[in-house]
Amino acid sequence: MSKSASRPNKSESNKSEPNSNRKPKSQSMVYDEAKTVANSKLDQQETLDQQETRKSEQECRSLNSSLKVAGSFSELNLEEGLLKALAENDYTKPTPIQARVIPPILAGRDLMGAAQTGTGKTAAFTLPILNQLSQRRPPKANCVSALILAPTRELAEQVHQNVKKYGVHTGCRSVVVYGGVKINPQMMRLRKGASILVATPGRLLDLMEKNAVKFEQLEFLVLDEADRMLDMGFMPDIKRIVSKLPAKRQTMLFSATFSDSIKEISKRFLKDAIRVETAPANTTAKTVEQWLYPVDKKSKSAMLSYLIGHNQWTKLLVFVKTRKGANKLAYDLDKSGIKCAAIHGDKSQGARNRALAEFKDNKVHVLVATDIAARGLDIDQMPLVVNFDLPKVAEDYVHRIGRTGRAGEKGVAISLVSLDEIDSLRAIQSLIGLKLKRNLVEGFIPENKLPDVPLTASKKKKPHKKKLAKAKAKLAVKKSKSSRSKPSR
Ligand code: AMP
Repeated sequence: MSKSASRPNKSESNKSEPNSNRKPKSQSMVYDEAKTVANSKLDQQETLDQQETRKSEQECRSLNSSLKVAGSFSELNLEEGLLKALAENDYTKPTPIQARVIPPILAGRDLMGAAQTGTGKTAAFTLPILNQLSQRRPPKANCVSALILAPTRELAEQVHQNVKKYGVHTGCRSVVVYGGVKINPQMMRLRKGASILVATPGRLLDLMEKNAVKFEQLEFLVLDEADRMLDMGFMPDIKRIVSKLPAKRQTMLFSATFSDSIKEISKRFLKDAIRVETAPANTTAKTVEQWLYPVDKKSKSAMLSYLIGHNQWTKLLVFVKTRKGANKLAYDLDKSGIKCAAIHGDKSQGARNRALAEFKDNKVHVLVATDIAARGLDIDQMPLVVNFDLPKVAEDYVHRIGRTGRAGEKGVAISLVSLDEIDSLRAIQSLIGLKLKRNLVEGFIPENKLPDVPLTASKKKKPHKKKLAKAKAKLAVKKSKSSRSKPSR
């Protein structure tokens, strides 16, 4: 959004917002002051377009790290109700992404944020939105003030739970909608209007077709895990949704990576956006210890049962590539007396929620999940993640192991790797820039030995200078010949 649109002056905003439930003057002055401070800091930052045209990625990163970062939530000028909720949840200080992202959002800027999974990015966008919406009157029937789009049902539910947790003292109402469950109760909930609506794109379009949701009062749009929405083919749906939203809004996009397609989308949906990166894309948290266990494909299931029993693991999240594979592994583990549950796309939403609840309550020790189903799972104290299969897409490795070592906690990630997965292993190692440590397990030494996989650079090689000069000279000769042979007019 443009600067003028995003930062109305006080008298303008008093006139133009009939629905605003103004707080006493002193409080709004504090709020305006916070905005001014944040904006003056931001004036030192470069906008997305400027960065892209004038700065290299490296320069952009050093720019971000040179800004003063808030060390406490109170420094971020969040309102009392939010500070109270944060204290109740034992959040003592903002995570790096929160410290960097909250001031620009409070200042009304569009924002493109890259952060590792588990870094606290949900609170990073939820807190400033709640801060601003807590100053407004609730929206009218069927209207929403903020829309958060998420790729999966689990992530949508997770974000909604966080909004409720952080907003408990603000009076803001959050509603979540996603497919796989009945639409009518969701329509009923939307009738009262919602300060924040968290939605998956498909179900939101169904609700829009039924006129169950109106966007005339919409102020904020968040595209969460935009890279995943792109991978899952949601872009046409998102374009349709965004075309129905007011042009004057504040838009935030979060993505694990800033690929070219993500930059394209940002250009389309965001205006004059600030770009924030807290860690280089595709890095895994330093708090996660990563191990590789070479094993024959046929022995993976037996090896996992053995490791669980031998190490007395009581809580682990196991990733598999396919739905069929998830069912098979759950069956095998069950047969060996290990309490486990599986979540994947073929399971009903009710079954997925039940499995997750049982896992959280320690009624089952192992949760077997496919990548899509696991997206957005936030399980407290997840000490161990196992990659039963390596993922098809290397980036998913980063997402998977981001389930452990969250918010600075220690975690372990183990990958069971068979010879047929050597290419995936190579791609993962070059993506994360790390060679995984090996651990051979007695009794499961593979017959099909997994050769050493050296770390290869993911960047394309630059052409040799001499070769480049030769090619240029050849081209120049060709050009001059063809221009000589052209008849003059
Ligand atoms: P997220 O990346 O949003 O999925 O958050 C990862 C985990 O960190 C969640 O369990 C949050 O509850 C937790 N978290 C977020 N912000 C903080 C904070 N400032 N202090 C402690 N824990 C946090």
